[in-house]
Amino acid sequence: MVSVEEATRIVLSNLYKPAVVKVALSDAGGRVLAADVEADRDFPPFDRVAMDGIAIRFEDLSNGNRRFTVKGVQRAGRPFEKLTGKRHAMEVMTGAILPENADTVIRYEDLAIAGDSATVTIDTVQAGQNVHRKGQDAARGEKLLEPGILLSAAEVALLASVGMSEVPVMTFPSAAIISTGDELVPVNDKPLVHQIRRSNTYAVQAGMRAIGWQGEQFHLEDNKDHIVTSLRKIAADHDVMIISGGVSKGKFDFIPEALEAIGVQKLFHQVQQRPGKPFWFGVSTNGKIVFALPGNPVSTYMCFYRFVLPWLWKSLGVEQQPSYASLAADYTFQPNLTNFLQVRIANENGRLRAYPDAGGGSGDFANLKNIDGFLELPAGKNRFEAGEIFTYIPFRIH
Ligand code: AMP
Ligand code: MG
Repeated sequence: MVSVEEATRIVLSNLYKPAVVKVALSDAGGRVLAADVEADRDFPPFDRVAMDGIAIRFEDLSNGNRRFTVKGVQRAGRPFEKLTGKRHAMEVMTGAILPENADTVIRYEDLAIAGDSATVTIDTVQAGQNVHRKGQDAARGEKLLEPGILLSAAEVALLASVGMSEVPVMTFPSAAIISTGDELVPVNDKPLVHQIRRSNTYAVQAGMRAIGWQGEQFHLEDNKDHIVTSLRKIAADHDVMIISGGVSKGKFDFIPEALEAIGVQKLFHQVQQRPGKPFWFGVSTNGKIVFALPGNPVSTYMCFYRFVLPWLWKSLGVEQQPSYASLAADYTFQPNLTNFLQVRIANENGRLRAYPDAGGGSGDFANLKNIDGFLELPAGKNRFEAGEIFTYIPFRIH
């Protein structure tokens, strides 16, 4: 038996090694970038007009001059126009290149225009105002993005603007999601009185899909030979196996011995935690990773969010920010185990407050619909007081 901290350390030091694939830019959101990205031009690439109005030469405002002759229009998307004479102005539109010889833009709101004459109606004009200078945001050749960035809308915009129609991203590990148990029937079956429909594999698959990770589902009966033969086949085709059930002390819990029989080395079995104590983790000599999670649905769920997802993100090089929440009510927990307490979250004055809703144990997966995540209450302590802050493992997008 290992502590949660030790289990975490072992899981996070046995990572999947991603390959790099190119995806279309329109599919890049939510993927993990696998290369450095540099600015191929300055940001912005030219002196960009930032307001609709007129462009002038600042020095033409000297001696109290406020009046300009408008000589033409500089539209966005058109090459340079040019100011040629004293007190000349050019109408300019946001996004246009600043006309040659101009240096300052005055917005329409600060002008009185009559025919080709524009009069400035404000007292103070700053030299260079309303011009977004070439290279002001980033210089050509500057590094904009690096590997390990989880691509959000912000990064996708940058990738588009530097001309990356295809984006190198990290591959996800190919995953098998495996349920075990003779009591489990397919979802579209009508279960007999002693049977239940299998739900864990769908839960895990949905959790994976939420981040763009695909997994293939399998089901194994509680028969050792069948498990050994099937796991050998599944392991050959997948980088990671996420198994639920069959790892406890029951007479028909064959998963640990079957895994060892196919050459997966156990790195730990049993973690000092509730739920999820029977959790088994191992790796094969050719680097296949196995998470064998206890079958009780709340345990499977908790272990998936607390161990499998952080393992995935670390494998892909993504640095995760921890979340914290403060306990909203006193809570007592006797066993010397890390307790992953089911909580509802409320944002109160900018702070996350966690309201315990422990449910009816690790088989009560109906309670999961009422909660937002788990609060990690450390082992070695029994009383937890309202206001104390703990790591929070969210499973919803807030
Ligand atoms: P086990 O870990 O195999 O002893 O299973 C513990 C409990 O979880 C049993 O009540 C199982 O019926 C239940 N269980 C195991 N796998 C699943 C599954 N895929 N979907 C729903 N319940 C499951
Ligand atoms: Mg079972």
